[in-house]
Amino acid sequence: MNRRKTPSKEKILAILKSQGDAISHETITNQITDINRATIYRILNQFCEDGIAHRIIAENGKQFFALCKTCEVEEHHHNHLHFQCNTCEKVECFESEINISLPEGYAIENFNGLINGYCNTCAPA
Ligand SMILES: [Zn+2]
Ligand SMILES: [Zn+2]
Ligand SMILES: [Zn+2]
Repeated sequence: MNRRKTPSKEKILAILKSQGDAISHETITNQITDINRATIYRILNQFCEDGIAHRIIAENGKQFFALCKTCEVEEHHHNHLHFQCNTCEKVECFESEINISLPEGYAIENFNGLINGYCNTCAPA
């Protein structure tokens, strides 16, 4: 498959990079007006396949995307937890890696560990 660098890709990548936390698909499409939604989605999927970004599915079914930086180790995997704040709805990657022991013969393809709660700005006093 053709994986050329295109201006559209560069643009989406720049948005992902500008964001410390995971960013929702909605936010990305709202920030880009000159690329159609289907193309944006296709590019995001390519990023996931290529190990540039990963997808987090939030409780309400919303999709978030985050750059792969915490999961960039020898072998690419995404076994870190995500945290979503119930108040501001931001999604963050937690760097601590968790080890999941699977029954023999099972293989992990994706891990969508999501914790819900309140972030340090929104935590009730
Ligand atoms: Zn990753
Ligand atoms: Zn919050
Ligand atoms: Zn993550």
